[in-house]
Amino acid sequence: RSKMDGRGTWRFFEPAMDASLQSRRALELDLREAMDKDEFDLFYQPIYDLQMDRISGFEALLRWPHPKRGLVPPDQFIPIAEDIGLITLLGEWVLNRACEQAASWPSELKIAVNVSATQIRDPRFAEVIANALDASKLDPQRLELEITESVLLGNSAETIATLHKLKAHGLRIALDDFGTGYSSLSYLRSFPFDKLKIDQSFVRDAIATKGSKLIVRAITGLGKSLGITTTAEGVETIEQLNQIQAEGCNEAQGFLFSRPVPATEIAPTILSLRNGLSRCRLSSAMSD
Ligand code: C2E
Ligand code: MG
Ligand code: MG
Ligand code: MG
Repeated sequence: RSKMDGRGTWRFFEPAMDASLQSRRALELDLREAMDKDEFDLFYQPIYDLQMDRISGFEALLRWPHPKRGLVPPDQFIPIAEDIGLITLLGEWVLNRACEQAASWPSELKIAVNVSATQIRDPRFAEVIANALDASKLDPQRLELEITESVLLGNSAETIATLHKLKAHGLRIALDDFGTGYSSLSYLRSFPFDKLKIDQSFVRDAIATKGSKLIVRAITGLGKSLGITTTAEGVETIEQLNQIQAEGCNEAQGFLFSRPVPATEIAPTILSLRNGLSRCRLSSAMSD
């Protein structure tokens, strides 16, 4: 295949480039179709309160069960949804579904929803949130929005104002993947976060690598000084759990507690995590 370039000469695509462009176009078309056909799904992963020794809530994680490609991971399609302008619609679907789901849970459980930068910059964002809360009758205090540092990159006055407005309505705001973005600590000054989620890369290495251990310690200390919750992401082993608990992290999330589960497995997951810490330690002691 070939294409005229700006100067009226023919330019030939590399076959490899052509193929990846085609598969990208195909994925875009599939995404739009999936949106029309309501083919997305939400999974839920428990967030464990280490002090209370119980689940404090669940994080909603988007899944795309593709008829031919299988389960497409969000890291592969969310950036595309952003590019083709589908993220606001998709994000609205996620918020509605997550709030509706959480409204049926015991009232002490929160729901955390990931929101992208584009979504927050949409002028309708506050209205979308209000609608999701209205329709589900979910207490706003039970809804937590997870944003990444990229949301704050522009540090635009509007974004900060939107977040303040949502907070004033009782929502909580968590800073996700903390430590991996263009971390400028001034973000922490320009916005009153409720929670820092320590990126799983630091948690994973916190046993073997001194640097990562010190970063976990520093972030936890920062959270303490600021009076906000710290959550360790990606806790997979009992050693990591012991480590982050020793550092004073308030919450943990990861495969050690549970993988993300479909809505139908939420109740059994809550049951199986009763006294989760002692259970985790017991099962690890038995496998030693
Ligand atoms: P995230 O918000 O940081 O979510 C945590 C990711 O880590 C999830 O991947 C989760 O399945 C995975 N995870 C949890 N525990 C462990 C563990 O112990 N070990 C390992 N290796 N991984 C663990 P997932 O579901 O593939 O999501 C990836 C990212 O996609 C999310 O990262 C989030 O940034 C984004 N995402 C997911 N759902 C949504 C959504 O509804 N909207 C938006 N805008 N982004 C979303
Ligand atoms: Mg998240
Ligand atoms: Mg994260
Ligand atoms: Mg992430």
